Amino acid sequence: MSDQINLRAYGKINLGLDVVGKRPDGYHEVKMVMQTVGLYDSLKLERKKEPGIHVATNLYFLPTGEDNLVYRAADMLMKEFGVKEGLSIGLHKRIPVAAGMGGGSSDAAAVLVGVNKMFRLGLSRKALMERGVNLGADVPYCVMRGTALAEGIGEKLRRLPPMPDCFILLAKPPVSVSTRFVYGNLKVDSLPFHPDLDGMIKALEKNNLDGVTACMGNVLEMVTIPAYPQVQKLKDIMMDAGARMALMSGSGPTVFGIFDKKEAADRICRMLRREGLAKQAYTVKPYNSKE
Ligand code: ATP
Repeated sequence: MSDQINLRAYGKINLGLDVVGKRPDGYHEVKMVMQTVGLYDSLKLERKKEPGIHVATNLYFLPTGEDNLVYRAADMLMKEFGVKEGLSIGLHKRIPVAAGMGGGSSDAAAVLVGVNKMFRLGLSRKALMERGVNLGADVPYCVMRGTALAEGIGEKLRRLPPMPDCFILLAKPPVSVSTRFVYGNLKVDSLPFHPDLDGMIKALEKNNLDGVTACMGNVLEMVTIPAYPQVQKLKDIMMDAGARMALMSGSGPTVFGIFDKKEAADRICRMLRREGLAKQAYTVKPYNSKE
């Protein structure tokens, strides 16, 4: 059994996000094309003799008790398997928080994988994904990683062919958006458009980046952009700079732009940071689950 495990928890973007209905229990039924990107949080798990879970993070405003998803993930598995030892979790965040990039879900998924390995629980990836949904709808996807279609509340997953190679500029304007606010204000029954996600899947099958970007769309922009015009401004800047397409990820406010050339993405990245339009801005590549 290993005493220490280092893990990476990668962020995601939604190449497409559609809401197709609302369930009686209040959850929204979604249809999303998910893509992991090369921006990650680093986690260090250490086994301790004394029982208990201890979390430390580099961000002073994040909870370290059971409100942190990494605590909840470890607690859930360790309780189920009656692990008597303790665990310390060091979390170094890089993925912007409350930003639409699934950072907390990805951290939780990494902890599920790490705890399973550290304490030799013998759970398959599928079994971890099944448990992950109890922590959050995106957690099973974060265990899976790569390019995938997510349906249901996000937990019904189908692996898709990997996104064609490109550069992705991620930029989070200096506002935090509540996912609850965005879904709560979405008029599910009268959405004026739905992105063509079946078209996007066909384009992925042909490794056709033009086809993928032509089908990009996110219905949640209809709620977030009127409330946070900074999101539209970032989209416009990226499009003017030659992005193939720019879109908000998840419920926002992070915007991502798809670029052919790293130099063009890096130039805008520097400008956005300098001007304070997005202090958290990064040029990354799609992360393929096989990497
Ligand atoms: P999604 O894209 O799934 O909607 P998000 O980007 O909106 O996710 P997160 O950054 O995952 O949101 O987390 C949002 C909230 O969850 C924060 O307000 C934060 O306090 C809480 N939280 C709990 N655990 C974590 C964690 N490990 N990392 C980030 N936030 C966490």
